[in-house]
Amino acid sequence: PRLANQIAAGEVVERPASVVKELLENSLDAGATRIELDIERGGHKRIRLRDNGCGIEKNELELALSRHATSKIATLNDLERILSLGFRGEALASISSVSRLTLTSKPGAQREAWQASCEGRDMTVTVTPAAHPDGSTIDVADLFYNTPARRKFLRAEKTEFQHIEEVIKRVALSHPQVSFSLKHNGKSVRRYTAVAADKHHQRIAQVVGQKFIDNATHVALDYQGMAIEAWLGNENVTRSSNDCQYSFVNNRAMRDKLIMHAIRQAYESAYGYHEQPSFVVYLTVDPAQVDVNVHPAKHEVRFQQSRLVHDFIVKTVSDALAPPTA
Ligand code: ADP
Ligand code: MG
Repeated sequence: PRLANQIAAGEVVERPASVVKELLENSLDAGATRIELDIERGGHKRIRLRDNGCGIEKNELELALSRHATSKIATLNDLERILSLGFRGEALASISSVSRLTLTSKPGAQREAWQASCEGRDMTVTVTPAAHPDGSTIDVADLFYNTPARRKFLRAEKTEFQHIEEVIKRVALSHPQVSFSLKHNGKSVRRYTAVAADKHHQRIAQVVGQKFIDNATHVALDYQGMAIEAWLGNENVTRSSNDCQYSFVNNRAMRDKLIMHAIRQAYESAYGYHEQPSFVVYLTVDPAQVDVNVHPAKHEVRFQQSRLVHDFIVKTVSDALAPPTA
């Protein structure tokens, strides 16, 4: 099973940041409102996440570490209308096949906490008693220790940590009601305090900066079952902003070609050519209209009515940037 898991890991676990992303999504799926991340040496040495989510029952721990075990899809119908973030049941199994992973958890209704770790060629899971408050801790140490070929592709500590920070920012931008803290090598690096779920702009101020919010054009619009809310950097702040391009579909971060293209086109029609517009865009569409399983790392979506979505974005964004004169 280890080999099969490692092959799957090749798809999902590219680098430390991909581990962070999977762990964060699991915590959010578990309803966590407080997430703490402790990173050592860019994640090469250790990635530890603690959450206050629903936890995993003792007799589910082993299952959580095995492949294709997911508690999130009950019927095929769910697949089509999937709302939860993770659904493939592979992440933990894959990660544990290329690292030393321990999972410690305590559901609120369970008296004691238990810890599961996964070892050896056959990935035997051992479960032992532990001390832990309600919620879970996932500790991923020595990533790629047993896959030298992958380890070779790891970049400098600093680069890997930057990728981790990007992942956190995206997740934080789409979950304002959750608090996040991030430490690197024991030092606190970021702290986003929870704000109301509908106060996206407050979270954007925490993540991107108050200056961006103060200068951005804000637009919110509904049309034929789609909704968009966006903060659009104006001409003056677009220069050095290639690191401020965030788009979300149904609250998932997406670097989707269609969305990027639509936004560029909107800036172009409003301002003339724009190389790097800065923006934070939240798009909401009927879940039945999108396929999020295009890529295992889930950065891309497929819209059933892609033309409609594209044109909706172009029109909304360009009208907001340069209101049409009646
Ligand atoms: P998936 O998220 O696709 O179901 P994963 O391998 O990421 O698959 O996780 C396996 C299972 O472990 C999840 O379905 C969930 O039941 C459980 N799990 C993982 N992380 C957490 C967490 N932080 N809190 C509660 N349950 C978790
Ligand atoms: Mg998952």
